[in-house]
Amino acid sequence: MLWYRLNTLVPAPGFLTNLRTSILEFFWSGMHWAPVLHLPLKEGGQGLKCLHTQVRVFCLQALQRLLYSAGSSTWSILAHAFLRRFQGLRYDRQLFYFCPGDFPRDLSGLPVFYKDLLRTWKLFSMTRSVAATVGADLLAEPLLRNPQLRVQAAESHSVRQSLVLAEVTRVGDLLDYNRGDWLDPLMLARRMGLSRPRTPRRVLQEVKAALTPAARAYLNRALSEGAPHPPSTPGLPDLSIEPLPRRSQQTPHPFTASRQHELQPVSFQIAPRKHLYTLTLHTLVSRPDTKWRDLLPPLEGEQPRWASLYSTLVPRPVGDISWRLLHGAVSMGVFLTRFTPILDTCPFCNVRETLGHVYLECARLQPLFRLLTNILLCFWLHFSPLLFIYTLPIRGPTKLRDLLVILLLALAKTAIYKTREGRLANEASCDCRAVF
Ligand SMILES: [Zn+2]
Repeated sequence: MLWYRLNTLVPAPGFLTNLRTSILEFFWSGMHWAPVLHLPLKEGGQGLKCLHTQVRVFCLQALQRLLYSAGSSTWSILAHAFLRRFQGLRYDRQLFYFCPGDFPRDLSGLPVFYKDLLRTWKLFSMTRSVAATVGADLLAEPLLRNPQLRVQAAESHSVRQSLVLAEVTRVGDLLDYNRGDWLDPLMLARRMGLSRPRTPRRVLQEVKAALTPAARAYLNRALSEGAPHPPSTPGLPDLSIEPLPRRSQQTPHPFTASRQHELQPVSFQIAPRKHLYTLTLHTLVSRPDTKWRDLLPPLEGEQPRWASLYSTLVPRPVGDISWRLLHGAVSMGVFLTRFTPILDTCPFCNVRETLGHVYLECARLQPLFRLLTNILLCFWLHFSPLLFIYTLPIRGPTKLRDLLVILLLALAKTAIYKTREGRLANEASCDCRAVF
């Protein structure tokens, strides 16, 4: 019911945020690491459906229907009529040829639903395979903001406005079928409200120069035969979408949670919902995958084994502690001291309590690590801090051993976590080796 309503109605401002807060309060007791939770499990998230992303995907699916449906449905006729009124441009499908950076910021004049569609489209980078060279599509090819027909003379705001005023916004509008020739610059200047034909002449020259020989030949033939005026809607466009390039000039962290750099352009017409979801989610999410990258630099090819954290033998609460530890989302002195009167020192040894200290360096952990070293040697595995924190992948031939070792590592982390909590609560048993 919720998805149906979000698919058909534009949610009120703040509704999605409030709903997400309620969900996080219910499942995670108010611990809001929302961007991470929405990532798939194998990428370090919890696979929680992101409401904002899902609504964007609904918009993209509506755009797919708008651009690629047969065009006979009543809705698409109505939608095209709304879009054609946008800023007097008389574009419908052509609006989606614009570069996102070139898109008008002011979307006023459109109904809320269509504003949402265009705002969603602006989140992506779009590539159109080729501009139209023949047929009715060439007549409907946009003159303004068209990256494939870059008309420099029409890039200034005032010239754009004059062309809109003169109702000359498409290639076909530049043809004068009565004269059997291109529009007379003087006449075009008059329609644009200009006293001199210099700008219209430049526009005509640039358009002719930008067209391919085949396109020019088609237009000449259309003029000599007295072809009809340009159609309002061009044919199905061949568009590919991908995430927007990063605005920041800084080199991104090599291990971000975002798979943005891996996502290739995809044909918008056939992109399935699942892919659109991934594309949208990774357009919005970009952060380092784990807090441990700097503390414990992994070797070449090593990475956190997120998928192993919740393997079959590991109870869910135990897996949660390992998962939170990889994200650095566990209680520790240096963090708590910012918000509470608690000291930033370790409750066992009075050293400054950092993430690395609590789970690797504290002297109290060493007996537990020696025990783990001995146990793992029985499985022909070498215990190391990397193995402890990042855990190991489950491989087919050694699956049973891997599952058991993953369980032991997860239980050891839980023992460290629980004994620290116990010490802070003044409980008696705080020996992590004994608890393990
Ligand atoms: Zn300590």
